[in-house]
Parts: sequence; structure tokens; C-alpha cells
Amino acid sequence: MNHFQYKDGELFCEDIPVAVIAQEVGTPFYLYSKATLTRHFQAFDSGFADIDHITCFAVKSCSNIAVLSLFSGLGGGADIVSGGELFRALQAGMDPRRIIYSGVGKGEEELRYGLKSGILLFNVESEQELLRLQKVAADMGVTAPIAFRVNPDVDPKTHAYISTGLAKNKFGIPIDEALELYVQAAEMEHIKVMGVSCHIGSQLTLISPFVEALRKVKAFVGRLAEKGIAINYIDLGGGVGITYDDEEPPHPQEYAKAIIEELGGLKATLILEPGRVIVGNAGIMVTEVQYTKTNRGGDKEKNFVVVDAGMNDLTRPSLYGAYHSIQPVQEKTTASQLVDIVGPICETGDFLAQDRVFPQVEQGDLLAVMSAGAYGFTMASNYNSRPRAAEVMVSGERFAVIRERETIESLIKGEAIPEFLEKK
Ligand SMILES: *Cc1c(COP(=O)(O)O)cnc(C)c1O
Repeated sequence: MNHFQYKDGELFCEDIPVAVIAQEVGTPFYLYSKATLTRHFQAFDSGFADIDHITCFAVKSCSNIAVLSLFSGLGGGADIVSGGELFRALQAGMDPRRIIYSGVGKGEEELRYGLKSGILLFNVESEQELLRLQKVAADMGVTAPIAFRVNPDVDPKTHAYISTGLAKNKFGIPIDEALELYVQAAEMEHIKVMGVSCHIGSQLTLISPFVEALRKVKAFVGRLAEKGIAINYIDLGGGVGITYDDEEPPHPQEYAKAIIEELGGLKATLILEPGRVIVGNAGIMVTEVQYTKTNRGGDKEKNFVVVDAGMNDLTRPSLYGAYHSIQPVQEKTTASQLVDIVGPICETGDFLAQDRVFPQVEQGDLLAVMSAGAYGFTMASNYNSRPRAAEVMVSGERFAVIRERETIESLIKGEAIPEFLEKK
């Protein structure tokens, strides 16, 4: 359930017509519903209410500080993958004791920043990272709390670009080699071993791979115990899928039930890193039709709807061939035709939808690209020198711009013409 619904043929976000917001802020823009964000966070988090747990929202999926601040207020933490995300989480008021740091390539400065901020856990992904962290912590005279991200070699049965838990993926440490590393880490003076973590992929629509991964992690925790290494945190990562089209992902409560069951009596705090399942269907992108045209070649005919948002604004269709439902903001009764909905970028790969059955629309019509809350704005770029879109949050009858549309002046911020190019 989300709060993007039609009333009398007009798309609303909670209690405001989407068109009213478009009138005020221009297009394209991202639009988030506070009620939906809240509902999805709580639906996920409450599934684990009976056990010790922390829901660490995956910042990379939707990193606006207003969104992070909302989740912080609901008792959530943050899963970060860079110093930049740490800065955002702290600015949003997140408690550092609920921040965990994932990622395969943490820089020295980033490790220092994490230590200085007193975050809960570093999810270490290689021996070299462990050695670097030990060195930085020693320099600072502190101890770094760590988990290793192990790779359980489980097939998540998802898109190849977003599966992470297979032996062939770059993430984590093969679970069979991790034991040695744990023993090594346990003896290091400035390292404190606290947990085991894994994250097997994104947009999973089955529960069984999560359960299989947890089973392997549990067995591994048993082997660690035999070596006298106690584990306080088990981090299962994120990855629960959502419905974009006709997928049937598990309900978060079902997922929670299966995980708690598999966990059994294991005494550890569970960490979860959901991203998409919380924000994906809590946000849309709104764009305006610029032109419609039909290109004819031989006996073939192709209809295009050119809109003012492109692959720089929403990359997922181009990058993953991802499906997003697209709906006219004012419901249409016009005849349907087969169209490509494309952006203004000079790339053939710049589309939001291909071969879509779509009602006839015209210049100036507003379209809503649904399920755009996750990996939408956060993956946006300035390609083709396009200022990035505005972000807006709605609460009931109110709305607020939570990120201004970029200006063309901001596009050249930091650029300079060197002296040796200047004309005499
Ligand atoms: C991307 C990522 C997540 C979030 O994945 P979702 O599919 O959005 O839930 C969680 N943990 C790690 C380590 C990630 O890289």
C-alpha cells in the first residue's frame, strides 16, 4: 500500500494533487510520501520487534537528509558505504551507535572519519582493509569494532548486476577463508571483533536465499565459538524486493518470521540493512511531456513520447533494463498505442519505457514514473549538463522542497580555465 492514488481521475500524493506540486516546483522532480516512508519502515522494523535488532537503512538507496532524519526519528540507523554518506547520516541526526559502514573500498580518510564519529561497526571486506583499519585506529589510539563481510556463495536469483553473494562477485570474503582472518583479527590490539555480516544481493523476490545465507552464517558463528571468538552482531544485509511490475516479493513480516525462525536461540543482535523495500514504492518521479512524434521507416512505425526527464535523472531503465510503471497524472481515456517514452539525452539508451502500451498523451501532460524512490535520485548525474531534479516530500496536505533543483550555474562549480589557456 502506498499513498499515490487517483481521486476523481487525478493522481494525488497523500492529500495533495501531484499537478499542484508540479505547478509550484516545475519538472522533473522526485516526490516522496512521508506517510508511505513511515508505513514501510514500520512494517519492516516491527517484524523484528520481538528480538534484539537494529534496522540500518541503506543510505545509498535514497540519501536525502530529510528522509534519513525521518527514519532516525522512527528508531532506525544507517548502513553507509562512504564518508559522504556518513556525513549525511550525521547531519540528519542519526545516532553513530546505529551506523554501520559497508563497502569494498574504504579509504584511509573514510576509516578515520568513521572511527572519529564512533560508529557501531565496520564491515571489513578484505585482509588489506583490516590491516589499514588497525593502522588508522592505532594512530588515533582507539579500537575499531568490526565484522567481516563474508560471502556465503548463495544464488539470490536476481539481476546479474545486483547479485553480490556469489563467489564470482567482488564483495566480501569467501566464508571458508574467513575463519583464519577472524583468528588474526582477534589478536590485533586495535581491532575488536564484534560480528559477522553478509549481503547477498538486491531485489530478491524469494525468502529461501536469505534463509540459506543465514544458515551458513550461523554454522560459521559456531565455528568461531570453537575458536573462542564470540559474536555480538549478525548483519544480514538488505535486499528484500518490491513490486515494480508483476513481481511477488515476500511481505516484510513473512521475511522477518522466516529469519527469526532460522536464527533460533542464537544470542546476538540482528542488524538489517533494508533500502529498496522501504523507499522504493514511497517515491515517484514526475516529468512533463515535451513532444510526441512518430518515426516511419519502410512499413514500420514507431511512436515516441519525449519527456523532460532522462537517464541522467532515472538511470535504472537504461542501466538494468528495469521496468517502471508510468502513469499519466490526469487519468486518460484516449486510445492506447505502443510507445517508447524517452528523455532528452543524446543516447539511444536514454529511455524510461520501451514498447509500452500507453494512452495517447500530448505536450504539457504530466507523467508519474512509479516506484522511483530507491536508486532514483541517488543515481542521478549531470550528464548532458542537466541540472539535477528537485526532491519534494509530502505530509498530508503539506509539501516541502527537500532538495532544490540545481541551477545551471551550479553545473560549473569548481571548474576553472587555467592560465595557460587564457588568451594574451
Ligand atoms: C545496497 C546495499 C544494501 C541495500 O540493498 P537493498 O536491495 O536496497 O535493500 C544493503 N547492504 C549493503 C551492503 C548494500 O550494498
